[in-house]
Amino acid sequence: MLALRADRLFDGLSSVALGNPTVVIDEGRILSVSSGGAVPADAEELVMPGATLLPGLIDTHVHLGFDASQDPVSPFLAAGPADLLATMRENAARALSAGITTVRDLGGKGLSTLDLRDAAGNGGVRLPHMLVAGPPITSPDGHCHFMGGVADGEGKIRTAVRALIERGVDVIKMMGTGGSMTPGSDPLHVQFQDREIRAAVEEAHAHGVPVTVHAHARDGIRAAVRAGADGLEHAKFWVADGIEPDPATIDDIARRGVWVCPTMGAVPGSPPPPAAVAKRLALADDLMRDMHRRGVRLVAGTDAGISPAKPHDVLSFGIEEMARAAAMSNAEALRSATSVAADCCGVPAKGRLIAGADADIIAVGGDPLTELGALRAVRAVILNGARVR
Ligand SMILES: [Zn+2]
Repeated sequence: MLALRADRLFDGLSSVALGNPTVVIDEGRILSVSSGGAVPADAEELVMPGATLLPGLIDTHVHLGFDASQDPVSPFLAAGPADLLATMRENAARALSAGITTVRDLGGKGLSTLDLRDAAGNGGVRLPHMLVAGPPITSPDGHCHFMGGVADGEGKIRTAVRALIERGVDVIKMMGTGGSMTPGSDPLHVQFQDREIRAAVEEAHAHGVPVTVHAHARDGIRAAVRAGADGLEHAKFWVADGIEPDPATIDDIARRGVWVCPTMGAVPGSPPPPAAVAKRLALADDLMRDMHRRGVRLVAGTDAGISPAKPHDVLSFGIEEMARAAAMSNAEALRSATSVAADCCGVPAKGRLIAGADADIIAVGGDPLTELGALRAVRAVILNGARVR
């Protein structure tokens, strides 16, 4: 049994901090959360003056197999299974030490991310909880085709989705449009017909698995929403010469409760993204504010690994960027990376510090409810009730 004490606590749900908290945990679960509560006689006590306790952070969009170099694809393609596993372990460990206790990998090479998730012991390295998509479903020569998830036509798409689910993926990722990092792929190109996306959604839902769709282009976003996707990745409404947000579609996204992960987050001072991305990024603040104002469920996720700006511990910068761009309060931005992210990932026992929840907890110096940069002053990481940092 372990009792944590600090100056304040953000529970992942409310807008105000609890003062003088005591959190008692046992067997990987939170037994109680109280203000000034007594510490059980048999509990080991960890007292952190000046610190804030909060749920372990969740990055809903990472690529553990990408090494955050200028060209992450070449080493990814060249690596054999053992080297790739080593890279993924290293990246996952880096996330964990930054207080990210759950990651959702939305695109790995073949089934490598499932192998990592399921590997016993993980070579002695403690890793965050992992939810994985395996290889994204994509069109022939489409975005990230080199990950191994190529399928087209309703029948083949259903078969591919079923095979991934039988192998145990937590989520289906589908590439609704092209992407910037695949040579020959155009982010404005819509890769699938509505009926193909719908086939994937129906097949996945029949097995209780959600589908999230990568979509840059406005028309790809519309197609994914029409087809019943559960989530959208990027979703910046790209058109030929900029972005063109469409209020009716945004209202539809909000009404249907579709999760939107705008993949924000970059280490300050990093090299800029490709010109087409940078140009549209500068236009995205109004869109973010509008989505938030219209009630879209925005979740934190970074696309960690795809460039030097996005190492696997970049999430704190993504939370700050989202707060600024969408004009969210700090509490709202923190919820997007805790309770809201947990709900998006289908793990509602995570992302909140309440009795009965999983004991994935971090302590940071200072108060992230007033200064989000405090998220980088990680003082303790508790995973499954055990201290890993
Ligand atoms: Zn991605």
